[in-house]
Amino acid sequence: MGAEPLVALDLADTLITVTTPTTDLIGDPERAEVWWGLQAARLPRSPTPELGATRQLRAALRDLLDSHLEGRASESTSIDDPNAFAASVPTSPRLLGQQSPRTQTRWHTEHGGNPALAAIASAAIDLFGDESRLAELRRCANDGCSMLFLASNRRRVWCTANICGNRGRVARHRCPGLGSNNLVVSGLAGHFYR
Ligand SMILES: [Zn+2]
Repeated sequence: MGAEPLVALDLADTLITVTTPTTDLIGDPERAEVWWGLQAARLPRSPTPELGATRQLRAALRDLLDSHLEGRASESTSIDDPNAFAASVPTSPRLLGQQSPRTQTRWHTEHGGNPALAAIASAAIDLFGDESRLAELRRCANDGCSMLFLASNRRRVWCTANICGNRGRVARHRCPGLGSNNLVVSGLAGHFYR
């Protein structure tokens, strides 16, 4: 986890929806702390968000993104919650000086919001405001995978070429009539059909 250009998509992908019950990859404070640490370079400086707030924003993003792909209406809270998170930390541009970097964005935490959650919510809202980028939103073609990604390459259908892509290639190369034992070994499939 952690390879999409938008942290918002990576956050949505920490909830695996194809398992019953769903699988939470940041389901405890320790794993959440590690995950936030990995995202830190892509987010404004921020205290580690609370798990409850993280889950609330993630649930909204997951529903918004999935409902868009499925052509259904989202929950109303999935609209309200990202708006509230984005508004919880207003920003203003700040001039630093005459040498680079000359400017920075100031995150106004005096209202009690968390900048990391606000930044993720704002980026998700920006995605929904950008029709061409939103058209790149995909869900992995592997039925057993719920990962979301932006396909800047229009031919991309797998979340990861070396995991779900290989599974897809293996499935296509089962030899009819010989049963499922005649699978191409997944590593070799990647080698031959890359
Ligand atoms: Zn996948």
